[in-house]
Amino acid sequence: MQTVAPAVARSREVFDSGITRPLAWRLEQLSNLRRMLIERRDDFAAALGSDLGKHATEAQLTEIGFVTAEAAHLAKNLQAWLRPRPVPVPLSVQPAKAWTELTPLGVVLVIGPWNYPLQLLLAPLAGALAAGNTVVLKPSEHAPATSAALARWIPEYLAGAAEVVQGGIPETTALLAMRFDHIFFTGGEVAAKAVLRAAAENLTPVTLELGGKSPAYVDASTDLARAAKRIAWGRFLNAGQTCVAPDYILATEDVLVPLECELVKAIRALFGADSALSESYGRIVNDQHFARLAALADGSTVAHGGERDAASRHFAPTLLRPAPGDTVMGEEIFGPLLPLVPVAGRDEAIRMINDGAKPLALYVFSNDPETRRAFSERTSSGALCFDVPAAHLLVPGLPFGGVGGSGMGAYHGKHSLRTFSHERSTLSKPHWPETLELIFPPYTRAKHRIISSLVAPAGKRPGKR
Ligand code: NAD
Repeated sequence: MQTVAPAVARSREVFDSGITRPLAWRLEQLSNLRRMLIERRDDFAAALGSDLGKHATEAQLTEIGFVTAEAAHLAKNLQAWLRPRPVPVPLSVQPAKAWTELTPLGVVLVIGPWNYPLQLLLAPLAGALAAGNTVVLKPSEHAPATSAALARWIPEYLAGAAEVVQGGIPETTALLAMRFDHIFFTGGEVAAKAVLRAAAENLTPVTLELGGKSPAYVDASTDLARAAKRIAWGRFLNAGQTCVAPDYILATEDVLVPLECELVKAIRALFGADSALSESYGRIVNDQHFARLAALADGSTVAHGGERDAASRHFAPTLLRPAPGDTVMGEEIFGPLLPLVPVAGRDEAIRMINDGAKPLALYVFSNDPETRRAFSERTSSGALCFDVPAAHLLVPGLPFGGVGGSGMGAYHGKHSLRTFSHERSTLSKPHWPETLELIFPPYTRAKHRIISSLVAPAGKRPGKR
């Protein structure tokens, strides 16, 4: 097992030295991060290809280029976002100046999953560095090539700013026993609970980016062919191993029948007649997940696809027609299976969604303003997207995060800066004139009158008519 303490101690030492606070240091780290991603792009793309069969174009869109753009967006706006924010001062405290400032937290631990093993470590890293922190990165042991590439290049480009600790549960457990100023975790529910329990010991603030089942509702008012292509893209991107992928479809039966045909066409258009031959289609991360997905498909009714090969871990895009009670509807699928679930209409769809945990994302494909409004007003989810899945991640101004069972906290762009900073209240009051004499003891009738009028000015007293 890799000893974790030295990496944390080095990070603490760098932060305590004070060098991370100036804007210039932060911009330099963001620039180094971008340089690393540009200069070592081929290495990272090869690692992602080895771990997940990711095509270089997909790796660029969803991982390498994604983080490069995020770092550029942070660098471009950082100075403006860091400007102190003046706050009005009430009469009782005047004369004085009040403002808030975003201040660094200290040493941040980022724990990543295997499905977007580069993006989900380095996008939080960019935000944490922009906020003036040092960072310890814990990549997923299930994406070993990407983990090794990060351990190879981070020390060269981001020495002092970031440390990489490779390993699995033992190393993460050892890290979690140490003191951090923030823990940023992306992964599943079981590990999230272990993270929260460990964080409680040190009262460490935590961001949890989790998953769950993200539904898509489709009605007859939408363009079914276009909707099907977008849904198939979102579901089968990275062979379905995407936290914001549409997990299942809800629609009336008269919509599901033509939608199923359009989904089959869309799958062919995206990955050809045999996805095993498509370089654009990824592979399942490991044998354990492959076996889990095979059991889910075998425990339901396959309407299309289902072909698979354990040796290459290819699992074809698969449409299911589940029966009530099928396991596939009871857990996050996290693979290339798409159940088509009939409902009586939007009210039943909303009821079903509200009966489950709050989704990370909710997708509504409808041109009907009433339907859009109904989902917007009567459901809760990390994000709500109309007519497109997953693309909200590409809008840097939108906070990305869950709610309830799908997570707590959010990041990306300005929201990352807020997540990885403390907004410190600052007040400065000159000694002269000493207005506080009005509230200092000894208390007199005159002071009582003054304080009463300051707290509840005459005519505005609660209950006074
Ligand atoms: P995971 O929870 O198994 O692992 C995540 C990280 O936690 C890994 O680095 C792992 O080493 C560590 N870990 C695992 N078990 C641990 C334990 N008991 N104690 C301490 N550390 C532990 O998750 P995963 O399988 O890598 O990823 C899949 C899950 O992540 C899915 O639920 C998916 O929806 C979710 N996810 C969420 C997002 C998001 O942004 N919201 C993105 C991707 C994945």
